[in-house]
Amino acid sequence: MSLNELNLLEINNIAVLPNMEMMDHEEVLFCNDRASGLKAIIAIHNTTLGPALGGTRMWPYASEQEALMDVLRLSRGMTYKAAVSGLNLGGGKAVIIGDSRRHKTEHLLRRFGQFVHDLGGKYITAEDVGMTSKDMEYIRMSTPHVSGLPLHMGGSGNPSPVTAYGVYMGIKAAAKHVYSSESLENKKILVQGCGSVGQHLIELLEKESADIWVTDIFEDKIRETKSKHKVKVADPEEFYDMEMDIYAPCALGGTLNDYTIPRLKCSIIAGAANNQLLDEEKHSQDLLEKGIVYAPDFLINAGGLINVYSEYKGNYSRETAMEQTRHIYDVTLEILKRSASNGQTTLTAAKQLAEARLRSAAQLKMPFSRF
Ligand code: NAD
Repeated sequence: MSLNELNLLEINNIAVLPNMEMMDHEEVLFCNDRASGLKAIIAIHNTTLGPALGGTRMWPYASEQEALMDVLRLSRGMTYKAAVSGLNLGGGKAVIIGDSRRHKTEHLLRRFGQFVHDLGGKYITAEDVGMTSKDMEYIRMSTPHVSGLPLHMGGSGNPSPVTAYGVYMGIKAAAKHVYSSESLENKKILVQGCGSVGQHLIELLEKESADIWVTDIFEDKIRETKSKHKVKVADPEEFYDMEMDIYAPCALGGTLNDYTIPRLKCSIIAGAANNQLLDEEKHSQDLLEKGIVYAPDFLINAGGLINVYSEYKGNYSRETAMEQTRHIYDVTLEILKRSASNGQTTLTAAKQLAEARLRSAAQLKMPFSRF
């Protein structure tokens, strides 16, 4: 097959190889199993620093193109996340196309585990949106290359509290940078997405007496949150026009775009969602020009990865994972300072830090088989 023919390999007009080349992916695996109804994509972005560890997301994508672009972007983000956090891990991610509330079965999860196993440890999975540590237990029946197992199986359990703690550290660092005080007392903070991370973040913000606003597309999530915490509720679409101090995106990616950025009236954006910027370069620049300080998502949401990495290394301790996650405060502050003094976006400053580490490790030219 010639290179031209390869470039024509397309999925419904999304060119796979050119996109892999553009984002510098090593490998993408498409998984199909008629018996279980599994349709999944596993993307391995970079294994320079170690095996590609990244969660599996189950989501009812509107199309295969959407799923492919999501997994390509998410896996690249994992490379940056591991590199900037000082972890000996590469970047990878998986997506299962389907509604986790309706289509997730033990059969499907075990079958997915077999596909992960076929990669021989080059990709290690964990949980992400639509998945739980119980699901990791079923995947574990097919492969040892899974992290984020339940506590009763010797795993690290739900990573969301650790992720939320890291996001909280990121928010406090951004507050210190912008307001010269890390206190969040009376700061008006909008948490978008009352899921696993959102709920734990709300708990931490509540302890600081922040003025907490929440939004979610599911009424049951709002009800649950209101029953546990003192929060005010905003409309999932209209909140973008609200005056607020801090916007914390904790739902899905792409919420920072041409349509929302002109509407935002906040001084800080810092949240857990991956790939918050729809167009990384353009929208990080737009935020810089608007004077909104953006704490890069892959930097401040690394707590979950730190947690599962701790499990993967063995001798898991939540205290150690939390302690390592606390370091997100210092790195965030450093990145925000660099961005302010160089006039570069916070995204560029964070990526430069990650890329410097990847470059120096790549010079060692060690093959993946060392794992
Ligand atoms: P989750 O599925 O538990 O929660 C997501 C919540 O967002 C749900 O309540 C959902 O209803 C809500 N939501 C979806 N679309 C929305 C919209 N348009 N407006 C408002 N709410 C919406 O997921 P999670 O584990 O809490 O993760 C949240 C985000 O953080 C995801 O982007 C995930 O990739 C990222 N993240 C999570 C972890 C982790 O440890 N769980 C680690 C790193 C990054």
